[in-house]
Amino acid sequence: MENLILKDKNLYYIGGVVRDELLGRDSFDVDLTYQGNAIDKFGELKECIKVNEPFGTVRLLVDGKEIDIASTRDEKYDKKGHLPEVFDIGCELKRDVLRRDFTINALAKSTLTGEIVDYVNGVNDIKSKCLKVLHDGSFIDDPTRIVRGLKFAVRFGFELDEHTKNLQETYLKNIDYDMSFKRLKKELIETFNLNRQETFDRFINQKIYKLIGENEPEEIPDYDIETLVKKYPVDNIWLVYIGWHPDIENLPLTREEQKIIDDYRELLSTDIKEDNYSVYKSFEGKSKEAILLYTLTQKSELGIKYFSLNGNIAVTGEDLKSLGIPPSKEYSKCFDYILKEKLSNPDLTRDEELNLAKQFFK
Ligand code: ATP
Repeated sequence: MENLILKDKNLYYIGGVVRDELLGRDSFDVDLTYQGNAIDKFGELKECIKVNEPFGTVRLLVDGKEIDIASTRDEKYDKKGHLPEVFDIGCELKRDVLRRDFTINALAKSTLTGEIVDYVNGVNDIKSKCLKVLHDGSFIDDPTRIVRGLKFAVRFGFELDEHTKNLQETYLKNIDYDMSFKRLKKELIETFNLNRQETFDRFINQKIYKLIGENEPEEIPDYDIETLVKKYPVDNIWLVYIGWHPDIENLPLTREEQKIIDDYRELLSTDIKEDNYSVYKSFEGKSKEAILLYTLTQKSELGIKYFSLNGNIAVTGEDLKSLGIPPSKEYSKCFDYILKEKLSNPDLTRDEELNLAKQFFK
C-alpha cells in the first residue's frame, strides 16, 4: 500500500497476510495492527469512516479501499473455549503477537520499512512447513485452533510439530464441551467448504470429530467425498462432510441446515426399494446435501439414481379440470399413475400424459 497514511513506524501488517506473502500466496484479507491506540492515532482523520471503541479498531477509506486497523491488544480466556476478553489496548506488539494461534500466524511486517518482526521463530516454521502453537494451554484456551490447524495443514501442506501434536491428542482425550460451538462451526465451515478429501481423512484419523460432541458416530463415511461433491455441487459442502455426526446439532444450525439433517435422518429410517418409483418418492423434496450424505454413509447408489430420474410431469390439476374431472383425492393418485410411466419413459409427451390421465379416470 503506497498511501503515506499507511506508512508509519508503529503500523504493521500482521498474521495471515505476512504468512501468505512469505509463502508466495494471495491473501484473503489484509490485517493491519497499530502498536498503540489506533483510534487515537487515526480516529480524527477525514479518511476514518468507522470506529469501534471496545475493540480499539478503525476503518479508513484510502484510495477507494476500506482498510481496517486494529490496536495492539492482549486477550484473556477467563472462560476457556469461549470468546476471550480484550484487554490492554495499545500494548507492546510482542504481547499482541503472543496471543495468536500458530507461530506462522504470529508474524508482523513494518509498513514503513518492510522489516519482518518475528518473536516466535515463525519464519523458520514456514520454511520447515511446521504448525506450532505458542504455548501449552493454547488448545484449552481455544479448541477451535485444532480445526484451524487442520485447515492450514491441508491448505499449505504443513504438519503439526511433535509437541503440538501431543497437545492436540491430549486435549482431544479430555475435551471440555463447555466451549463456543458457534466459533467451532465457523471454523468447520471454512475448513470443509474447501472440499478436500485430505481434510476429512485427517479429521477422522486424528479424531478431531470428537470436538463436535461426545457420542461416537455409528456411520463414518468411507468414500471419496471430494469427487462426489465436485460432481454434485451443493451450497453446504461442510454438512456433506460432517452431517453424519450424532451431535451435529451441538453446532447452532440454521433452519436450512437443520432441514438437511432432518432429511438425512428421515432417509435413514426409510426402506427404499430399488425401483424407479420408490427411489423417486423417497428422495423427492429432500435436500441435495442430505441425499449425498445418505449416499456416503449407506454406500448406496440410490440417491445418485434419483438425480438421473426425470419425474417432471406436464399434466396439471387445471388439465384434469378441463377434462371435466372434479377435484378430489383421486387427482394425486392419477399424478402418481402418470409419474410411474414417466419414470420408465422420460420421453413421454404431454399428449401421452393426458391420455394416461383419461385412461386412469375411465
Ligand atoms: P485465512 O487465510 O484463512 O483468512 P488468517 O490467518 O488470515 O487465515 P483469520 O481468521 O483472518 O485467519 O485471522 C487473522 C489472524 O488472527 C490469524 O492470522 C491469527 O494471527 C489470528 N487468529 C485468528 N483466529 C485465532 C484464534 N482462534 N486464536 C488465536 N489467534 C487467532
